[in-house]
Amino acid sequence: MRTTRTRSSEGLSSEWDVVVIGSGMGGLSVASLLSTDGKKVLVLEAGLHPGGCSSSYTRKGYVFESGATTLVGFDPGQPMKFLEEHTGMHIPRHELNPSMSVWLDNQKPVIRMKDKAEWVNHCISHFGEEKAQRKFWDKSFYVAERVWNISLKNIFFPPANPSDFFRLALNNSPKDLALLPYMLRSVAQVARSCGITEDRFYRFLNEQLIITAQAGATQTPFIFGAAAICYPNSSNFYVPGGLIEMAFTCLDHLESNHGQWLNKQKVVQINQYKQGYRIRTDRRLEVQAPIVISNIPLWNMPDITDGEMRDYFKKESAKYTDAWGAFTMGIALSDTLAEELSLHHQFHLNEGHPYSDWIARSFFVSISMRGDTQRAPEGQRVLNVSTHCSPEKWLGLDQDSYEKKKLEVQEYLFEQVQQRLPGADRAECLQLDAATPRTWEKWVYRKDGRVGGIPQSMKRAVWDWTSPVTPFKGMYLVGDTTYPGQGIPGVTLSGINVYYRIVKDFK
Ligand SMILES: Cc1cc2nc3c(=O)[nH]c(=O)nc-3n(C[C@H](O)[C@H](O)[C@H](O)COP(=O)(O)OP(=O)(O)OC[C@H]3O[C@@H](n4cnc5c(N)ncnc54)[C@H](O)[C@@H]3O)c2cc1C
Repeated sequence: MRTTRTRSSEGLSSEWDVVVIGSGMGGLSVASLLSTDGKKVLVLEAGLHPGGCSSSYTRKGYVFESGATTLVGFDPGQPMKFLEEHTGMHIPRHELNPSMSVWLDNQKPVIRMKDKAEWVNHCISHFGEEKAQRKFWDKSFYVAERVWNISLKNIFFPPANPSDFFRLALNNSPKDLALLPYMLRSVAQVARSCGITEDRFYRFLNEQLIITAQAGATQTPFIFGAAAICYPNSSNFYVPGGLIEMAFTCLDHLESNHGQWLNKQKVVQINQYKQGYRIRTDRRLEVQAPIVISNIPLWNMPDITDGEMRDYFKKESAKYTDAWGAFTMGIALSDTLAEELSLHHQFHLNEGHPYSDWIARSFFVSISMRGDTQRAPEGQRVLNVSTHCSPEKWLGLDQDSYEKKKLEVQEYLFEQVQQRLPGADRAECLQLDAATPRTWEKWVYRKDGRVGGIPQSMKRAVWDWTSPVTPFKGMYLVGDTTYPGQGIPGVTLSGINVYYRIVKDFK
């Protein structure tokens, strides 16, 4: 992995066209787009590395992913493709097919292959109910494709003013309106209406949705859920050297377009004044710009604002009381893994497993590609293990209980990996570390260690999402706690939306 040197702020201009707070993919995408147009963009990052939850870190020479491991969004009409086309950047990547294996039990995995027809046949071979399954997947593919298409067309969604409503009406056809009822029906309701009765399939859907929608089949509106369950049928990529290479690609682009990225500069205060915003960091750096874009979670915003701004962010944050944390592990092993293994695996855990209060009912394992010597030497592999958990549980422990529980959960998960991932051998472990919401809070500064964005909910209408446009002129939000939500393509889309907003608002 490239070493990230600490950037010096010596001689830095204090006047910028745009200041972006945070360099997750939400911030980096909008910074790349604006700098392409010649805007003078400064990105301030609290941590050492760029990329936030979609980055990488090194331990003992191994390169682990910080959070995200799967990368989609490069197909026609999808956000990563737009980002590359608009900026001329190329994110290094290698296509994977199949995109993942899902292990419901210890027998044969469900293989998520890209080809739609092949996938549906395979799904039927596992879950039966051919007619109902075909109906369900036809509907899911149709809605997923239209949703991607509509999302990139409706860059002014959610509407912030009458002219946005007008644009929405102009941009959409009656065919698009036919999707509206799927905002009000959950994935489970649609599956049931197609005739699916098999409980094992609903469990499969729940665990697939938790990784992409942060909620199960009864809580996820089909309009989002269709895109979420169909993501393994998009082109799926691995980034050699780790996802930080994607962040470095954006940084290189920014810096070669007169932009600047400063790390170890945690923003502690934003003040609005007549001409824009004054932004101050913990290192006493002070800069100003007419446009400020926040890429930090909504929940963090009240801590760095005051007055009306603070009240607004408090009110918006209070809308989202439920959020997940993550228990993650980085493992390096001698490569005794079976040949022909997918790089991504989801394993279901039994209901009432011994740590069900501490971690979720499935976990995800991603493996470095054989021969990716940037991440591990020849003959060794790197594994990233992740599962959802309740941040409150982990934050509520005293130090001794915390250390004990962390070790217990780590041992339990490692045991599961060894038993269930073909060829994995604990005796071959070369490096291991684990992270809880406490770690995540320090690592990427996410309040209470809440990661993964805002869980989908049937109670929330799509227009109730926090808009990227704030009531404060020139202040915008990107990232996984604002519309359209989580995942690398989701936050990149938020960056694209804000880019267009700025182009329109600051002609
Ligand atoms: C364990 C896990 C696995 C995941 N797996 C996938 C996956 O496989 N595929 C996928 O697409 N998505 C995945 N996701 C979701 C995805 O990683 C996130 O939704 C996305 O990366 C969030 O990007 P963001 O730009 O919103 O914010 P972040 O990535 O959180 O970036 C915010 C940045 O702001 C910085 N910052 C915070 N406070 C300040 C401050 N005060 N001043 C300056 N900088 C600050 C942080 O250090 C960070 O770099 C996963 C998430 C997790 C946690």
